[in-house]
Amino acid sequence: MINGSCLCGKVQYTYSGDINEIAMCHCSQCRKAQGGAFATNSPISSADLVFQGQEYIKEFQSSAHKIRAFCTNCGSPLYSAHKDLPGSVRLRLGTVETAFQCPKKYHIHTASKAPWYEISDAFPQYTEGK
Ligand SMILES: [Zn+2]
Ligand SMILES: [Zn+2]
Repeated sequence: MINGSCLCGKVQYTYSGDINEIAMCHCSQCRKAQGGAFATNSPISSADLVFQGQEYIKEFQSSAHKIRAFCTNCGSPLYSAHKDLPGSVRLRLGTVETAFQCPKKYHIHTASKAPWYEISDAFPQYTEGK
């Protein structure tokens, strides 16, 4: 069982599945949404994700097919969801509190990466999505 929360703690969640892959997304939207060089997201089944404090979650429609959910009290990003991938969300792994390991990591949208950031690890890189 994996537990997590936003920064202020109003939103808490439990995830009963495994985290099998970590996408380090360098797209310009993720960079703005996280305020960082990239986002660390994992595609998971939304059926296995249970929230408390749902009333604090707002889903911002960042593009025609995509929403990005965050805590309305503290602004922590929580997940994104794509219209074409029902039943799946991309969890923002910085909100996870449970220690876990996941060897499968990769960079996506490296064509949009911040010019001030150099990728210095050996994980696979994809210029677009994956
Ligand atoms: Zn919060
Ligand atoms: Zn992205």
